[in-house]
Amino acid sequence: MKRRDFLKIACFSVAGLPARSTLDLLSEKAFPKPSRKEGQPKWAMVVDLKACLTKPGCRTCLDACHSIHNVPNIDNRKDEVKWIWTNPYKEVFPEHTYQFSSVGVQTRPVLVLCNHCDNPPCVKVCPTKATFKRDDGLVMMDYHRCIGCRYCMAACPYGARSFNWKDPRPFIKEINRDFPTRTRGVVEKCSFCEERLVRGLKPACVEACTANGLTFGDLNEPDSQVRRLLAFKTSARRKAHLGTEPKVFYLV
Ligand code: SF4
Repeated sequence: MKRRDFLKIACFSVAGLPARSTLDLLSEKAFPKPSRKEGQPKWAMVVDLKACLTKPGCRTCLDACHSIHNVPNIDNRKDEVKWIWTNPYKEVFPEHTYQFSSVGVQTRPVLVLCNHCDNPPCVKVCPTKATFKRDDGLVMMDYHRCIGCRYCMAACPYGARSFNWKDPRPFIKEINRDFPTRTRGVVEKCSFCEERLVRGLKPACVEACTANGLTFGDLNEPDSQVRRLLAFKTSARRKAHLGTEPKVFYLV
């Protein structure tokens, strides 16, 4: 990084950022949208809500993700850390809940995770560039650059990020030595299993799913399974009106 860029970022962190309006930070002018390089994939996930419902109470995908990524199991809402979890349908899609929907429909569990937004507000507000978007669309974290300011958590409209309020290591049942653990004071979230993609593997949650409810693939590839599903089935994205362009799609 050039010295001049570094000083600019340092100024934001120390003095400037709180004084800037959120609108400024979110505007294209303040942080130009990065462009996709030709030939790169654009990774996306499709969640089939009906398939999930065939296995009530299933946690296979959640457990697979959290165990390989050393996500601590902290049993209180304030300190908990999560990469993938479920929330009631009415909270995930508040715009879809209608006056006459049954309680069963409104409370059915829906899988949620980071949407790896194409226009990610979390990236725009990070003062140290600890969170960034790659050319293949993955929104990543560099834990070593994270200063724990939590601007990204405030900016994410999906609550997809967790903060390590305490050292997570004592809360990990069995540490996976092939994946880094995090420290107190660091933000984390789903990475779409970039460490597996690079080896040609699917994300762990997709591989673990026994209900055929999760599909992962390249949106830039017209013949990919995700494109075929999206072409012929009705899908929705969370809070699409915000313009964040989520890359997790739900078949409803
Ligand atoms: Fe960022 Fe939240 Fe979008 Fe994930 S879901 S890319 S954390 S804004």
